[in-house]
Amino acid sequence: MLTSCRRAKRSTKVNSPQRRIIDYLRISITDRCNFRCRYCVPPKGIAFKAPAEILSYEEIIRFAEVAASLGITRVRITGGEPLVRPGCPALIKRLALVPGIKDLSLTTNGALLGRYADELKKAGLTRLNISLDSMEPERFSQATRGASLAPVLAGLEKALELGFSPVKVNAVMIPGIEQELQNFVALARERPVHVRFIESMPIGAGMGIRKFIPREKILDRLRTLGDLRPVDSPPGGGPARYFRYAGAQGTIGFISSMSDHFCNNCNRLRLTADGKLRNCLFSDAEVDVRSFINGDRDELKNVIIDSMNSKKFDRRREELAVARTMSQIGG
Ligand code: SAM
Ligand code: SF4
Repeated sequence: MLTSCRRAKRSTKVNSPQRRIIDYLRISITDRCNFRCRYCVPPKGIAFKAPAEILSYEEIIRFAEVAASLGITRVRITGGEPLVRPGCPALIKRLALVPGIKDLSLTTNGALLGRYADELKKAGLTRLNISLDSMEPERFSQATRGASLAPVLAGLEKALELGFSPVKVNAVMIPGIEQELQNFVALARERPVHVRFIESMPIGAGMGIRKFIPREKILDRLRTLGDLRPVDSPPGGGPARYFRYAGAQGTIGFISSMSDHFCNNCNRLRLTADGKLRNCLFSDAEVDVRSFINGDRDELKNVIIDSMNSKKFDRRREELAVARTMSQIGG
């Protein structure tokens, strides 16, 4: 246990000794999911944690308050599938009131978005990321091991209708994506949607996808479909690089976690649904913070500061995370 006052006095302004600003927190609110995406979870799925092992919303709020007091200004809710946990909009509403949190967003597979988009909007959520790896029903079902595409597309429509902005669509570059690039291009041209192609990472079931498709290969094909120019990121752009077709409403982006090394600029921490704090997606290192959340506030502060301070600038690839799936970590 960290108890010393000396530690509590440590500066929390810069929030990293390397003068790196760590201001982004991803909070996973559940390890459960209604999909079983091939690159995320193994064929038989995963054993879910017992409800008692999952942080309560009270505990999440308490953690967020302390993190915000240390410089966290942006929070993304994720999972598992966050919308399968009852009360997600109510949590968002409470997080929106936490002093210091200026930007709230949610990552969802979109299946339940049609049902909850309205409540989420009223709760104060403005930004949404929807994961959508294929816009062809059969391929979508194959990629998710049986999920239906129609509710996800309906959820996306609802989000646009309600005025969520920006709406980002995350498409992991799974084998076969080359054959339907025109679907994603049409989406980015006709709707105010930021489509981001993501390199699959060797994490969880993604360990099995050895042959990730590199950005350059997709970019070359996209260039054959029109006049594609580099543009600035939409709000919350993170490590993605963006492009736009002439006259398009939306953009095309790339998150190339494997081709690019953006450890240097990484500004995020992750809180797992079962209360583990992680400072790197590519490492299994984690700290159990639940007892700190329920204990002394200064001790929790110190644990968060330690996690911020021990973020590495360049993670060696042999240190890849293997212990948990992305649905358990919170992608
Ligand atoms: N269930 C929600 C969803 O799918 O949007 C939120 C959680 S999911 C773990 C968050 C993101 O992680 C999704 O966009 C998903 O595509 C991505 N993801 C999962 N496993 C991945 C892997 N091995 N490589 C790259 N991205 C992955
Ligand atoms: Fe579920 Fe998201 Fe993982 Fe797909 S990527 S299995 S939707 S947690």
